[in-house]
Amino acid sequence: MTSLDDLPIRDDLRGLSPYGAPQLDVPVRLNTNENSYPVPEPVVEAIGKALAAELRELNRYPDRDAVALRADLAEYLGHGLTVAQVWAANGSNEIQQQLLQAFGGPGRSALGFVPAYSMHPLLALGTGTRWVPAERGVDFGLTVEEAVAQVREHQPDVVFLCSPNNPTGTALDPAVIAAVLDAAPGMVVVDEAYAEFARPGTVSALAVLPGHPRLVVSRTMSKAFGFAGGRLGYLAADPAVVQAVQLVRLPYHLSSLTQAAARAAVTHRDALLGTVSAIMAQRDRIVATLRERGLRVADSDANFVLFQVGGDQTVIWKALLAQGVLVRDVGLPGWLRVTAGTAAETDAFLTAMETVTWERE
Ligand code: PMP
Repeated sequence: MTSLDDLPIRDDLRGLSPYGAPQLDVPVRLNTNENSYPVPEPVVEAIGKALAAELRELNRYPDRDAVALRADLAEYLGHGLTVAQVWAANGSNEIQQQLLQAFGGPGRSALGFVPAYSMHPLLALGTGTRWVPAERGVDFGLTVEEAVAQVREHQPDVVFLCSPNNPTGTALDPAVIAAVLDAAPGMVVVDEAYAEFARPGTVSALAVLPGHPRLVVSRTMSKAFGFAGGRLGYLAADPAVVQAVQLVRLPYHLSSLTQAAARAAVTHRDALLGTVSAIMAQRDRIVATLRERGLRVADSDANFVLFQVGGDQTVIWKALLAQGVLVRDVGLPGWLRVTAGTAAETDAFLTAMETVTWERE
């Protein structure tokens, strides 16, 4: 049998394993920050109709520029955005890959404040962009001073800011975004995958777009919309940024089926986003309950919670799994991340945590 090492693979990919949270078939899956609620029946019907209407024309390529979908997304985002300022791709992972293809690449660098979304360094690797892991401060926070000093020192071509941040869950102070935009010599990508779950008073970087052509806001339908399987991410930025990613995107990257399904989902957004407040309530319940039990818990503006387990997180992770509850070990010693889903899932998680804590004592 040929092994990977026998192939003339790129040196920087040798010995690596692919990204992947375990996809285990357990009763309570709270490890990838999906939306736990299934697509509501009227939306299933609407998406079905939209897909059926495309089928006879699958002999034709899709609209290469996905104009109608981008117009729908611009309208959803508001802030006076137009189709020329919005771009869509297969998940925000592909959006960010395209950004690195256009603005990173060999001889260039991308900087992120870790711990943050684990795909950022992997997308940098895949595009040949040098990754610079910058540091966060106390309790995974990030002050203007800490952010600006590291951006000034490394002069990266691309800065990733993640707000709300995955895995910590906390939204960034808008002053940090403004200061990084000022200090960075290149592009600043604000990954707002979880924006719809933010606590009241949180400001989106969308508000800062006017007058900042190097700012990109990355969004997704995978979380609040409950459309992870549909694979639809998008960005908002200056029209010139959209022109830049059009240079590197594969022609026809978004299938007609994806475009049609996503358009139907955006049209029915009230039904889909109707789960957001229930999920936020479970998120707040997890934070409050774990704190009552004496655990350290990061503030969350997302649909997940990072909590300190008071021991070896790999042991607690396995003990929770043994009780049918799958959470995420993000590789932070002593911490685990749990997705907020339905009330029943929270019950199962909190009960399992009680048993696990008790076993440890
Ligand atoms: N950004 C962040 C911060 C995420 O947590 C995720 C999903 N885990 C993504 C982007 C990518 O999501 P998708 O490709 O499904 O849009």
